[in-house]
Amino acid sequence: ATPTSIMVGTGRAAENGILFKGGEHLERTHALDTIVLDKTGTITKGQPEVTDFTGDKEALQLLASAEKGSEHPLAEAVVAYATEKGIDFLEADRFRAIPGHGIEAEISGKSILVGNRKLMNEYDIEIADAEKQAENLETAGKTAMFVAVDGTFRGIVAVADTVKETAAEAIRQLKEQGLEVIMLTGDNERTAKAIAKQVGIGQVIAQVLPEEKADKVKELQLQGKKVAMVGDGINDAPALAVADIGIAIGTGTEVAIEAADVTILGGELLLIPKAINISHATMKNIR
Ligand code: ADP
Ligand code: MG
Repeated sequence: ATPTSIMVGTGRAAENGILFKGGEHLERTHALDTIVLDKTGTITKGQPEVTDFTGDKEALQLLASAEKGSEHPLAEAVVAYATEKGIDFLEADRFRAIPGHGIEAEISGKSILVGNRKLMNEYDIEIADAEKQAENLETAGKTAMFVAVDGTFRGIVAVADTVKETAAEAIRQLKEQGLEVIMLTGDNERTAKAIAKQVGIGQVIAQVLPEEKADKVKELQLQGKKVAMVGDGINDAPALAVADIGIAIGTGTEVAIEAADVTILGGELLLIPKAINISHATMKNIR
């Protein structure tokens, strides 16, 4: 490999908004056969909004006050929704985020839980009556979160995030380039599949805990695949580091950008097939 042609390649990539940390990453991009994409903030815009809430005003007040302690995009959506509804926020006496599950808080002597089925199961909250409703929301591509107060189910809050305008076209191009495309997410399977369908992804690995994302990438590598991971979040960082090529979304967290080999500016997914084209063109010049 001539250093000059690699420099030309990374320069051309940079002009397009694809920032390689070094020439060796451009060389390795050439060998990729699998691309794993995080859902929230990578395929979707990462600005979820509340679309449905089935509980009463007190439940909303407790739920939103509890979510105020969380930095999760889902929490921000809930806080914005409650603010819009004119809810007075209460001070939480205790708050705990449970990664991949939800949150737990104590407010005005009441214990609040907000999160997914796993969280409700762990605290033995009876949600059977709400299951059908949750499934309908999820089939529509929404993330349904269950709310419990003092051990009793009090409502579902559903949040939806829109997919990026160019996501489907980027994925079409990646497939045309011969890559296997997989979605990897902490969200539930039904929601994940609905979003995947919108952008033309057939393979979904869902309900993955933040600390398990890197393991999923390693499993694919053990099958002999050369894997690129694309992500934006703190919870994607270990997977970005483990992947053959880690691709960070430029609008994502600093932690993800640091762990990755490449950053795509503005989170424009079309830059991924573009990077692959540039790597192919560069390697062709070398041989
Ligand atoms: P993602 O891969 O989409 O970033 P996470 O691993 O962060 O997802 O979260 C997985 C799931 O855990 C969410 O879909 C949600 O059901 C639940 N969850 C996480 N954080 C919160 C929160 N602050 N409030 C309610 N639910 C949450
Ligand atoms: Mg994300």
